[in-house]
Amino acid sequence: VQNKIGTRTVKESTDFSKIGGLSNHLKTLRDIFIVPLLHGNVFEYFNIRAPRGVLFYGPPGTGKTLVAGALATELNREGVGKVNFFQRKGADVLDKWVGESEKKLRELFEKASKCRPSIIFFDEIDGLAPTRSQKNDHIHSSIVATLLALMDGLDNKPGVIVIGATNRIETIDPALRRPGRFDRELYFPLPTLEARKEIIQVHTLSWKCKPNIQFLTHIAEATSGFNGSDLAALCSEAVLCCMKRVYPNIENLGNKVKIELDSLKVEECDFMDA
Ligand code: ATP
Repeated sequence: VQNKIGTRTVKESTDFSKIGGLSNHLKTLRDIFIVPLLHGNVFEYFNIRAPRGVLFYGPPGTGKTLVAGALATELNREGVGKVNFFQRKGADVLDKWVGESEKKLRELFEKASKCRPSIIFFDEIDGLAPTRSQKNDHIHSSIVATLLALMDGLDNKPGVIVIGATNRIETIDPALRRPGRFDRELYFPLPTLEARKEIIQVHTLSWKCKPNIQFLTHIAEATSGFNGSDLAALCSEAVLCCMKRVYPNIENLGNKVKIELDSLKVEECDFMDA
Protein backbone atom coordinates (compact mmCIF):
# COMPACT_ATOMS: atom_id res chain seq x y z
CA VAL A 1 0.00 0.00 0.00
CA GLN A 2 1.42 3.32 -0.95
CA ASN A 3 0.60 6.49 0.92
CA LYS A 4 1.32 9.96 -0.36
CA ILE A 5 3.11 11.94 2.36
CA GLY A 6 4.23 15.44 1.47
CA THR A 7 6.10 15.48 -1.81
CA ARG A 8 7.14 11.87 -1.97
CA THR A 9 5.54 8.51 -1.82
CA VAL A 10 6.65 6.39 1.09
CA LYS A 11 5.56 2.88 1.92
CA GLU A 12 2.81 3.08 4.51
CA SER A 13 4.61 0.31 6.40
CA THR A 14 7.79 2.34 6.97
CA ASP A 15 7.83 2.79 10.72
CA PHE A 16 10.18 2.21 13.64
CA SER A 17 9.25 -1.49 13.81
CA LYS A 18 10.95 -2.02 10.44
CA ILE A 19 14.30 -0.75 11.74
CA GLY A 20 16.82 -3.05 13.39
CA GLY A 21 19.72 -2.31 15.70
CA LEU A 22 19.11 1.42 16.21
CA SER A 23 16.88 1.45 19.30
CA ASN A 24 18.90 4.21 21.03
CA HIS A 25 18.60 6.44 17.98
CA LEU A 26 14.86 5.87 17.77
CA LYS A 27 14.44 6.66 21.46
CA THR A 28 16.51 9.84 21.14
CA LEU A 29 14.43 11.02 18.18
CA ARG A 30 11.16 10.39 19.99
CA ASP A 31 12.47 12.27 23.02
CA ILE A 32 13.75 15.18 20.95
CA PHE A 33 10.68 15.74 18.82
CA ILE A 34 7.55 14.27 20.36
CA VAL A 35 7.54 16.42 23.51
CA PRO A 36 7.89 19.78 21.73
CA LEU A 37 5.37 18.80 19.05
CA LEU A 38 2.76 17.64 21.55
CA HIS A 39 3.43 20.20 24.27
CA GLY A 40 4.67 23.28 22.40
CA ASN A 41 2.89 25.55 24.95
CA VAL A 42 5.51 24.66 27.61
CA PHE A 43 8.29 25.90 25.35
CA GLU A 44 6.31 29.07 24.63
CA TYR A 45 5.51 29.65 28.32
CA PHE A 46 9.14 29.34 29.41
CA ASN A 47 10.38 31.08 26.30
CA ILE A 48 12.76 28.25 25.46
CA ARG A 49 13.67 26.99 22.05
CA ALA A 50 12.47 23.55 20.90
CA PRO A 51 15.04 21.39 19.09
CA ARG A 52 14.86 22.22 15.43
CA GLY A 53 17.23 20.06 13.49
CA VAL A 54 19.24 16.89 13.64
CA LEU A 55 22.15 15.75 11.52
CA PHE A 56 22.44 12.04 10.67
CA TYR A 57 25.92 10.98 9.70
CA GLY A 58 27.74 7.75 9.03
CA PRO A 59 28.68 5.29 6.31
CA PRO A 60 26.28 4.53 3.42
CA GLY A 61 23.43 2.04 3.82
CA THR A 62 23.18 2.34 7.60
CA GLY A 63 19.55 3.47 7.79
CA LYS A 64 19.70 7.28 7.74
CA THR A 65 17.05 7.70 5.03
CA LEU A 66 14.99 4.84 6.44
CA VAL A 67 14.85 6.43 9.92
CA ALA A 68 13.98 9.90 8.59
CA GLY A 69 11.02 8.47 6.64
CA ALA A 70 9.85 6.32 9.54
CA LEU A 71 9.93 9.28 11.95
CA ALA A 72 6.99 10.91 10.14
CA THR A 73 4.87 7.76 10.61
CA GLU A 74 5.97 7.38 14.24
CA LEU A 75 5.12 10.99 15.17
CA ASN A 76 1.76 10.56 13.48
CA ARG A 77 1.10 7.45 15.59
CA GLU A 78 2.02 9.29 18.76
CA GLY A 79 -0.85 11.68 18.19
CA VAL A 80 1.05 14.58 16.62
CA GLY A 81 -1.25 14.38 13.58
CA LYS A 82 -0.36 13.81 9.94
CA VAL A 83 3.26 14.80 9.49
CA ASN A 84 4.18 16.02 6.02
CA PHE A 85 7.52 14.77 4.76
CA PHE A 86 9.59 16.75 2.27
CA GLN A 87 12.66 14.97 0.97
CA ARG A 88 15.34 16.64 -1.16
CA LYS A 89 18.78 15.51 -2.24
CA GLY A 90 21.33 18.26 -1.57
CA ALA A 91 22.35 18.39 -5.21
CA ASP A 92 18.69 18.59 -6.38
CA VAL A 93 18.32 21.99 -4.76
CA LEU A 94 21.35 23.36 -6.60
CA ASP A 95 20.55 25.29 -9.75
CA LYS A 96 22.90 26.66 -12.37
CA TRP A 97 21.10 30.03 -12.37
CA VAL A 98 22.22 32.55 -9.77
CA GLY A 99 19.70 32.90 -6.96
CA GLU A 100 17.52 29.97 -8.09
CA SER A 101 18.82 27.51 -5.44
CA GLU A 102 18.08 30.04 -2.70
CA LYS A 103 14.59 30.54 -4.16
CA LYS A 104 13.99 26.76 -4.16
CA LEU A 105 15.07 26.60 -0.52
CA ARG A 106 12.81 29.47 0.49
CA GLU A 107 9.85 27.86 -1.31
CA LEU A 108 10.54 24.53 0.39
CA PHE A 109 10.62 26.08 3.89
CA GLU A 110 7.49 28.10 3.10
CA LYS A 111 5.63 24.98 1.98
CA ALA A 112 6.76 23.04 5.04
CA SER A 113 5.73 25.90 7.35
CA LYS A 114 2.30 26.11 5.74
CA CYS A 115 1.54 22.45 6.39
CA ARG A 116 2.99 21.99 9.86
CA PRO A 117 3.79 19.58 11.48
CA SER A 118 6.34 18.71 8.85
CA ILE A 119 9.79 17.26 8.34
CA ILE A 120 12.26 18.59 5.78
CA PHE A 121 14.84 15.91 5.00
CA PHE A 122 18.01 16.89 3.12
CA ASP A 123 19.69 13.72 1.96
CA GLU A 124 23.40 14.19 1.10
CA ILE A 125 23.33 17.65 2.65
CA ASP A 126 27.09 17.96 2.06
CA GLY A 127 26.24 18.60 -1.62
CA LEU A 128 24.18 21.61 -0.57
CA ALA A 129 26.12 23.09 2.32
CA PRO A 130 29.84 22.32 2.04
CA THR A 131 32.35 24.25 4.16
CA ARG A 132 32.37 27.74 2.72
CA SER A 133 36.13 28.25 3.04
CA GLN A 134 36.75 24.82 1.52
CA LYS A 135 34.69 25.52 -1.58
CA ASN A 136 35.56 29.17 -1.38
CA ASP A 137 32.92 30.14 -3.88
CA HIS A 138 30.31 32.76 -3.32
CA ILE A 139 27.50 30.62 -4.79
CA HIS A 140 27.73 27.98 -2.07
CA SER A 141 28.32 30.71 0.47
CA SER A 142 25.04 32.35 -0.44
CA ILE A 143 23.15 29.01 -0.34
CA VAL A 144 24.52 28.18 3.11
CA ALA A 145 23.67 31.68 4.34
CA THR A 146 20.11 31.27 3.05
CA LEU A 147 19.74 27.89 4.74
CA LEU A 148 21.04 29.35 8.03
CA ALA A 149 18.59 32.24 7.83
CA LEU A 150 15.69 29.89 7.02
CA MET A 151 16.57 27.62 9.95
CA ASP A 152 16.85 30.64 12.28
CA GLY A 153 13.47 31.80 10.99
CA LEU A 154 11.87 28.59 12.28
CA ASP A 155 12.08 30.06 15.80
CA ASN A 156 8.59 31.49 15.45
CA LYS A 157 7.27 28.49 13.49
CA PRO A 158 7.30 25.49 15.82
CA GLY A 159 6.46 22.18 14.20
CA VAL A 160 8.99 22.15 11.38
CA ILE A 161 11.80 19.64 11.87
CA VAL A 162 14.87 19.73 9.65
CA ILE A 163 16.96 16.59 9.19
CA GLY A 164 20.19 16.47 7.22
CA ALA A 165 22.02 13.27 6.29
CA THR A 166 25.58 12.87 5.15
CA ASN A 167 28.38 10.36 4.79
CA ARG A 168 30.96 13.14 5.21
CA ILE A 169 30.15 15.27 8.23
CA GLU A 170 33.57 16.94 8.19
CA THR A 171 32.65 18.68 4.93
CA ILE A 172 29.52 20.36 6.32
CA ASP A 173 29.72 24.08 6.97
CA PRO A 174 30.41 24.44 10.74
CA ALA A 175 27.88 27.28 11.03
CA LEU A 176 25.13 24.73 10.40
CA ARG A 177 26.35 22.61 13.30
CA ARG A 178 25.97 25.33 15.94
CA PRO A 179 23.20 25.04 18.56
CA GLY A 180 19.95 26.41 17.25
CA ARG A 181 20.55 25.01 13.78
CA PHE A 182 21.22 21.25 13.69
CA ASP A 183 20.95 20.92 17.47
CA ARG A 184 21.79 17.22 17.61
CA GLU A 185 24.04 14.90 15.69
CA LEU A 186 23.37 11.17 15.45
CA TYR A 187 26.05 8.79 14.24
CA PHE A 188 24.84 5.78 12.24
CA PRO A 189 27.59 3.16 12.54
CA LEU A 190 28.04 -0.09 10.68
CA PRO A 191 25.87 -2.58 12.58
CA THR A 192 27.38 -4.65 15.41
CA LEU A 193 26.75 -8.39 15.68
CA GLU A 194 23.58 -7.81 17.74
CA ALA A 195 22.39 -5.11 15.37
CA ARG A 196 22.97 -7.37 12.36
CA LYS A 197 20.82 -10.04 14.02
CA GLU A 198 18.03 -7.50 14.52
CA ILE A 199 18.25 -6.22 10.95
CA ILE A 200 18.08 -9.77 9.51
CA GLN A 201 15.11 -10.41 11.82
CA VAL A 202 13.34 -7.32 10.51
CA HIS A 203 13.89 -8.35 6.90
CA THR A 204 12.67 -11.91 7.48
CA LEU A 205 9.73 -10.97 9.69
CA SER A 206 7.11 -11.70 7.04
CA TRP A 207 8.60 -15.07 6.15
CA LYS A 208 6.59 -18.09 7.24
CA CYS A 209 9.71 -19.98 8.29
CA LYS A 210 11.85 -17.41 10.05
CA PRO A 211 15.51 -18.20 10.79
CA ASN A 212 15.88 -19.63 14.32
CA ILE A 213 18.20 -18.01 16.82
CA GLN A 214 21.29 -20.21 16.17
CA PHE A 215 20.90 -19.82 12.45
CA LEU A 216 20.46 -16.05 12.88
CA THR A 217 23.57 -15.83 15.06
CA HIS A 218 25.55 -17.77 12.49
CA ILE A 219 24.49 -15.49 9.63
CA ALA A 220 25.18 -12.40 11.74
CA GLU A 221 28.66 -13.71 12.59
CA ALA A 222 29.39 -14.40 8.96
CA THR A 223 28.42 -10.88 7.86
CA SER A 224 30.86 -8.70 9.78
CA GLY A 225 31.34 -5.46 7.82
CA PHE A 226 27.92 -5.64 6.13
CA ASN A 227 25.71 -2.56 6.39
CA GLY A 228 21.89 -2.65 6.68
CA SER A 229 21.48 -2.32 2.96
CA ASP A 230 23.81 -5.30 2.33
CA LEU A 231 21.82 -7.36 4.85
CA ALA A 232 18.51 -6.47 3.16
CA ALA A 233 20.01 -7.53 -0.18
CA LEU A 234 21.34 -10.74 1.39
CA CYS A 235 17.84 -11.68 2.58
CA SER A 236 16.37 -11.10 -0.90
CA GLU A 237 19.17 -13.08 -2.49
CA ALA A 238 18.67 -15.96 -0.02
CA VAL A 239 15.04 -16.27 -1.14
CA LEU A 240 16.17 -16.46 -4.77
CA CYS A 241 18.76 -19.13 -3.88
CA CYS A 242 16.07 -21.09 -2.04
CA MET A 243 13.81 -20.87 -5.10
CA LYS A 244 16.64 -22.16 -7.28
CA ARG A 245 17.32 -25.02 -4.84
CA VAL A 246 13.69 -26.12 -4.67
CA TYR A 247 13.04 -25.58 -8.39
CA PRO A 248 16.45 -26.21 -10.01
CA ASN A 249 15.24 -25.62 -13.58
CA ILE A 250 13.02 -22.70 -12.86
CA GLU A 251 14.43 -20.49 -15.59
CA ASN A 252 13.57 -23.11 -18.26
CA LEU A 253 10.06 -23.89 -17.07
CA GLY A 254 8.37 -20.70 -18.24
CA ASN A 255 4.93 -20.34 -16.68
CA LYS A 256 4.29 -24.10 -16.64
CA VAL A 257 5.16 -24.33 -12.96
CA LYS A 258 3.26 -22.53 -10.24
CA ILE A 259 5.56 -21.93 -7.33
CA GLU A 260 4.19 -23.36 -4.08
CA LEU A 261 5.06 -20.72 -1.51
CA ASP A 262 4.87 -23.23 1.33
CA SER A 263 7.63 -25.26 -0.32
CA LEU A 264 10.04 -22.33 -0.05
CA LYS A 265 11.79 -22.76 3.29
CA VAL A 266 14.88 -20.58 3.27
CA GLU A 267 17.74 -22.46 4.91
CA GLU A 268 21.17 -21.55 6.13
CA CYS A 269 22.73 -22.93 2.94
CA ASP A 270 20.66 -20.40 0.92
CA PHE A 271 22.13 -17.55 2.96
CA MET A 272 25.60 -19.00 2.54
CA ASP A 273 25.10 -19.36 -1.24
CA ALA A 274 23.78 -15.80 -1.38
P1 ATP B 1 23.18 6.57 2.14
O1 ATP B 1 24.12 7.25 3.09
O2 ATP B 1 23.90 5.84 1.04
O3 ATP B 1 22.06 7.44 1.63
P2 ATP B 1 21.48 5.48 4.21
O4 ATP B 1 22.23 5.45 5.48
O5 ATP B 1 20.50 6.59 3.99
O6 ATP B 1 22.49 5.38 2.97
P3 ATP B 1 19.21 3.79 3.82
O7 ATP B 1 18.85 4.32 2.46
O8 ATP B 1 18.39 4.27 4.95
O9 ATP B 1 20.75 4.05 4.08
O10 ATP B 1 19.18 2.19 3.81
C1 ATP B 1 19.04 1.45 2.60
C2 ATP B 1 18.23 0.19 2.87
O11 ATP B 1 18.97 -0.68 3.74
C3 ATP B 1 16.93 0.46 3.60
O12 ATP B 1 15.87 0.75 2.72
C4 ATP B 1 16.70 -0.86 4.34
O13 ATP B 1 16.14 -1.84 3.48
C5 ATP B 1 18.12 -1.30 4.67
N1 ATP B 1 18.54 -0.89 6.02
C6 ATP B 1 19.56 -0.08 6.33
N2 ATP B 1 19.70 0.05 7.66
C7 ATP B 1 18.72 -0.70 8.21
C8 ATP B 1 18.31 -0.97 9.56
N3 ATP B 1 18.95 -0.44 10.61
N4 ATP B 1 17.25 -1.80 9.76
C9 ATP B 1 16.59 -2.34 8.71
N5 ATP B 1 16.93 -2.13 7.42
C10 ATP B 1 17.98 -1.33 7.16
